[in-house]
Amino acid sequence: MSGTLVVNEIYLSLQGESTWAGLPCVFVRLTGCGLRCSYCDTAYAFTEGKRQPVSEVLSSVRRLAAEFVPGNLGGMVDPIKLPLVEFTGGEPLLQANAAPAMKALCDEGFTVLVETSGAYDLGVLDPRIRAIMDLKAPGSGEAKRNRWENIALLKSTDEVKFVLGSWEDYAWAKNVILEHNLTARCPVLFSWVAPLVAKQQDKSLKPVPQCAWNTISRNCTPIAAANTRVNSPNMMQSAPTVSRKNTA
Ligand code: SF4
Repeated sequence: MSGTLVVNEIYLSLQGESTWAGLPCVFVRLTGCGLRCSYCDTAYAFTEGKRQPVSEVLSSVRRLAAEFVPGNLGGMVDPIKLPLVEFTGGEPLLQANAAPAMKALCDEGFTVLVETSGAYDLGVLDPRIRAIMDLKAPGSGEAKRNRWENIALLKSTDEVKFVLGSWEDYAWAKNVILEHNLTARCPVLFSWVAPLVAKQQDKSLKPVPQCAWNTISRNCTPIAAANTRVNSPNMMQSAPTVSRKNTA
């Protein structure tokens, strides 16, 4: 493939979010984001990165995936090819060559996920790519950036994620879910805001709404205890799932 991508990092780890949590995954973190969510824990990906040919990026994914032997699951038939591949950021959809790179990996049989802020058009994605799309709650400071037209483009294989910093955010998310009947479209995930440590507090982030932090410090544990569920890949859910993560 021709073209380049600006890449922050590519690494193999365990998927920690979404209904795919627990599975091995190659993460391709791209540089750049057009948002500045108050709770963002990956501000280092706003600017740090190196321009690479797409062909090199694809080669890195293949190299990290090479140690996974198909069918080596104690005699069980592999339900999917492992590892997964996830494009994240930053905001992967800001780079025009990201969608073609993801499509090329789908063509090779990979299950490809993309974590996106919800501010950019999902219509550029091949239908085999599984979007994990944020809808930004007011506490993010970026709720005006939600691209509501994306909701009509969601497939049953996509997922919507709300990152919540306060009971106000939770009430907002509940209303959005009901208004758009989101649980009939795809799995819906709730994550809660983890306060940033000093070195993560990038000056460009939107100000943290004071009420959000006061409320989360009193109440985040009861929210989690009431709603946490165990997930498995492809499981359709009738109720939101809760995990802890900030980045889109
Ligand atoms: S949380 Fe995601 S969308 Fe928000 S600023 Fe960070 S990388 Fe961008």
